Amino acid sequence: MNFQNTLQFARGLDELDPLQTFRDRFFIPQHSGRDAIYLTGNSLGLQPRTTADRIAEELEDWAQLGVEGHVHARRPWLKYHEFFADGMAQIAGALSSGVVMMNGLTANLHLLMVSFYRPTPERYKIICEAKAFPSDQYALQSQLRFHGYDPKDGIIEIAPTKGAHTIDESQIYAAIDAHAHEAALFFMGGVNYYTGQVFNMRAITAYARERGILVGWDLAHGAGNVELHLHDWGVDFAAWCSYKYLNSGPGAVSGVFIHERHHGQRNIPRFEGWWGTNKDRRFLMEPAFDPIPTAEAWQLSNAPVLSMTPLLCSLELFQEAGLERLRAKRDQLTAYLEWIILEVGREAGDSFEIITPKSASERGSQLSVLLHGRGVEVFNELQKNGVIADWREPNVIRMAPVPLYNSFEDIQRFAGIFKNALKNSTPHD
Ligand SMILES: *Cc1c(COP(=O)(O)O)cnc(C)c1O
Repeated sequence: MNFQNTLQFARGLDELDPLQTFRDRFFIPQHSGRDAIYLTGNSLGLQPRTTADRIAEELEDWAQLGVEGHVHARRPWLKYHEFFADGMAQIAGALSSGVVMMNGLTANLHLLMVSFYRPTPERYKIICEAKAFPSDQYALQSQLRFHGYDPKDGIIEIAPTKGAHTIDESQIYAAIDAHAHEAALFFMGGVNYYTGQVFNMRAITAYARERGILVGWDLAHGAGNVELHLHDWGVDFAAWCSYKYLNSGPGAVSGVFIHERHHGQRNIPRFEGWWGTNKDRRFLMEPAFDPIPTAEAWQLSNAPVLSMTPLLCSLELFQEAGLERLRAKRDQLTAYLEWIILEVGREAGDSFEIITPKSASERGSQLSVLLHGRGVEVFNELQKNGVIADWREPNVIRMAPVPLYNSFEDIQRFAGIFKNALKNSTPHD
């Protein structure tokens, strides 16, 4: 498509957008009396307008029923986590029995590694990406140390080659080949949080598994953003948070995927709690754990109802919008933003580098822009003028137009503010 940097053109695209009305179903943060240009849905998704009423229903049920709400609330709390399974499974490309919402993301990574990182003196290494999200690095390092291994030797990092920003798929296969005899686990972000690069999870999973390595993906930037078929791809486990693309509010509950092949196993090492045991016998308070033959076996506690409710509202919107339509709009919005950034840069005589891959199959909503010769002063100007984006040292701006609530008009308004930001800040060497 030939894009144009005019309001009329952008509004034309919005009029053709079958998802245009979904924006009105979110609260859009305000700046100087009008909608801010919110490009950080990859960091914290916006609030669906139904959220407060839904939480109020739970509060009302609690007020009126007390403990009886476990059974008699309009959404009985005893099985609250079950209300998320179908919607979440659709987004994860999983069977409903393969997903469960619980805990926080990093906590879940640890719980999953208890089961799926089982090092032996011959096979104890973990293959991952260099500069993984810090929490993931800490989780991997501490798991190695917990088992008595040295992370310096036990973590195999795959880094972009010199001068590159993204990792070539061939490097991943080379690393798997080189460490096939000594790696216990392959674990990476399916979508890199910094560059927005999306990895070929299907092919990589198959490649590592064929070599006897278990495979886990961190999908913090994948869930609700990119197409996932975790079950069909044969992924052993995955985890994600629901406050980024899944719009469930700060610190909201995390999701996990565990492949069917691991369900119902009694001998798998696992940290267990009463919400993982046979539901029919749970309240008999028997001493022996009888694992639910689904991903629920990994659940420890009863669901944090009040903090999970927003996810119900969000999953309904995903369901209604349809994942295919969301992805089609995502690609068009992202392409428009890419074009706008390069066009405004060109007009200003600046050369910006978008370090996110160009191909739609290797990226989702996010674009990461390297501001050669520019720095935080550009970002500060954007912020002052109502653009909410994300700054990473030394000079990268991350932006994610989200198809559920961002508009083409947002992107075009961004263009004007970006242009002024470049004008009002001085380049440096
Ligand atoms: C956002 C994010 C996290 C956050 O972890 P929490 O446990 O939810 O605080 C972890 N890993 C990655 C890759 C992320 O993008």
